[in-house]
Amino acid sequence: RFEIGGVVIPALAEHVVDTQLATTLGREGFSVRTVEHLLATLHGAGIDNVDVSVQGDEIPILDGCGAEWLEHLDRVGFVEQERPVREFVIERIIEVRDGDRWARIEPAPGFELDITIDFDHPSVGKQHLAFQFDPNTFSSEIAWARTFGFERLVPAMQRLGLVRGGSLENALVFGSEGPLNEGGVRSADEPVRHKMLDALGDLALLGHPICGRLIAERPGHGIVFHLLKK
Ligand code: ZN
Repeated sequence: RFEIGGVVIPALAEHVVDTQLATTLGREGFSVRTVEHLLATLHGAGIDNVDVSVQGDEIPILDGCGAEWLEHLDRVGFVEQERPVREFVIERIIEVRDGDRWARIEPAPGFELDITIDFDHPSVGKQHLAFQFDPNTFSSEIAWARTFGFERLVPAMQRLGLVRGGSLENALVFGSEGPLNEGGVRSADEPVRHKMLDALGDLALLGHPICGRLIAERPGHGIVFHLLKK
């Protein structure tokens, strides 16, 4: 749960108020933007009971992925609690479509993500990745994959008042010739790994760990949210 201005906002899909570019939770006139990377890190680290106090209206972007959050969580530590965790077991296929985007969740023996992205840019293109998650998958495969964007879209986003805190320190930015960041990409498929991170964060809004497989093509925050609602 998030606490802001004395109002508690449970981290559940029913409190999602916006999914443009990032996921925003809101309740009783208060809102918290960009919750997905923190939620992804908590979800990926298996932490499912936490109070987050927020000053301002946005979760810090930090390094644009889950790596720095993971370091902070490691420093703080966690406590194992007595009550058992209730898993949300997927027993039938649930699917949502929006043009050429779609997402489906289906029965599986554990928690699995299977994500495909397709961007019309030579440095990204079509990327596909699938994992069955174990406790180490998040830190080894996902946490370090940064949020990404395209240089040609930055001016339009800034006109909308978005990405004001965006920089090469917290985002992977592709120019027409390739990544503008010093050092380039951390892996050729860093973008699809970041989409997995976002999906993990949004799926945390179900409120329970999931036993099932999410398959998604060109997912965004909106479509995962619609899937959760369905
Ligand atoms: Zn993201």
